[in-house]
Amino acid sequence: MDQALIALSYWHDSVGAAAPRAGLDGDADADVAIVGGGLTGLWTAWYLLERDPALRIVVLEKEVVGFGASGRNGGWCSALFPRSTASLERAHGREAALAMRRAMIATVDEVGAFSSSWDFDFAKGGTLAYARSAVQERAARAEIAEADAFGVDDIGWRGAAEVGAAGALGAAFDRHCARLHPGKLVRGLALALEARGVRILEGTEVTEVSSGRVTTLRGVVTAEKVVVATEGYTATLPGSRRRILPLYSLMIATEPLPVSFWDEVRLPHGTTFTDYRHLLIYGQRTADDRFAFGGRGARYHWGSAIRPAYDRVPRVFEHLRRALVDLFPAAADAEVTHRWGGPLGVPRDWHAAVEYDPATRIGRAGGYVGDGLSTTNLAGRTLADLLTGADSELVRLPWVNHRSPDWEPEPLRFLGANAGMLAMAAADTEERLTGRRSVIARVMGPLVGH
Ligand SMILES: Cc1cc2nc3c(=O)[nH]c(=O)nc-3n(C[C@H](O)[C@H](O)[C@H](O)COP(=O)(O)OP(=O)(O)OC[C@H]3O[C@@H](n4cnc5c(N)ncnc54)[C@H](O)[C@@H]3O)c2cc1C
Repeated sequence: MDQALIALSYWHDSVGAAAPRAGLDGDADADVAIVGGGLTGLWTAWYLLERDPALRIVVLEKEVVGFGASGRNGGWCSALFPRSTASLERAHGREAALAMRRAMIATVDEVGAFSSSWDFDFAKGGTLAYARSAVQERAARAEIAEADAFGVDDIGWRGAAEVGAAGALGAAFDRHCARLHPGKLVRGLALALEARGVRILEGTEVTEVSSGRVTTLRGVVTAEKVVVATEGYTATLPGSRRRILPLYSLMIATEPLPVSFWDEVRLPHGTTFTDYRHLLIYGQRTADDRFAFGGRGARYHWGSAIRPAYDRVPRVFEHLRRALVDLFPAAADAEVTHRWGGPLGVPRDWHAAVEYDPATRIGRAGGYVGDGLSTTNLAGRTLADLLTGADSELVRLPWVNHRSPDWEPEPLRFLGANAGMLAMAAADTEERLTGRRSVIARVMGPLVGH
């Protein structure tokens, strides 16, 4: 396999070589053309075929399947949505907010059901969100109380004796989360689609999307309906420059660690973890007993630029290694074998959305921030219903046809996005020093999606 692809993530490396697919060769036509071979595009193709097996579907991918966030993420298949239930209630009313929560919770099991068709290391063991200070414990207990008040989620408190992170006073445990191997998921899904007749064309860069027409560097695809599924890369398409901001999340993976280590830190297979700091971290125990551990902290680049060099920031990798060892000191000598990163997609109001315009016959989904692994599946099902005109519960969910405001033009976008990042790091320091909930986080939080 191409070294550059292996370096994309531990997941790409561990699934090994895949024969590259052909690109578009001249003009073509289809019933549905999908731009982007990540999970949004692929799930949409899957559910479209379920609704109508006769559809001729083509997926146009600039690089290879899973090149984007779908092949690089933390492997948390969670019921999380980038906006909390309370904020969804404020925006859309209680019933709509609860319907969205129920749909997200059901999606974890919907994804899991595919693991009987091909193996992607799916194990549903919930998430532990460690509370490592009194301030964090108050935040955890407030989250549990909020979940109880809405009565849909299933989050409970686990005491210090039940959790194995250093200095943890306890943790909020959310049952609705699974660990999986993103590379195996996305690659297996693409193969399953091809077995059903979907044409997946790699190395095919789309340069323009309009009603019934997708222009690429290798020819034009004429299609009855078009779906744009480019998430963090959306700003590179004309007409979409300020829709979604690419924000980098970076990860490391360690060598495999002995089972005795995992018993000690109380992380059984399937249980993912995070804590209540403001500058997000997230981790999982992989099926082969490594840590895959990631977090924010990489800066936003002027003009929503995306470059391979931005996937690697030594300062952030070192920050992640230190954060991991701080949580689990017994991992201090574990070798870090992989380092990578990639852009996820952030809408201005942190509200993921699925849209379909019957006039242009163009559909889109995205803006999942760091919660896209399961949400892409819900998006795929919803887009399939919208495109085929099905009147389902899915098309009435509050994220359907939600339109986020555009991001500000530069330099405001650059200043705002990076100030938000710095503020979250500063908020963690403030809480450590004062022992009280950060004022910075209270002021800046609503602007950066907390
Ligand atoms: C490091 C990291 C960790 C994450 N961890 C988690 C996690 O643990 N849990 C979770 O729920 N979410 C996580 N996320 C977010 C999640 O991975 C994404 O929300 C999700 O994968 C988005 O899928 P997608 O198909 O919409 O976009 P992508 O997977 O980014 O796919 C978009 C595709 O479009 C292609 N493309 C772009 N431009 C063009 C063009 N002009 N022509 C043709 N093709 C084009 C790209 O090459 C890419 O393959 C993480 C993201 C990152 C980066």
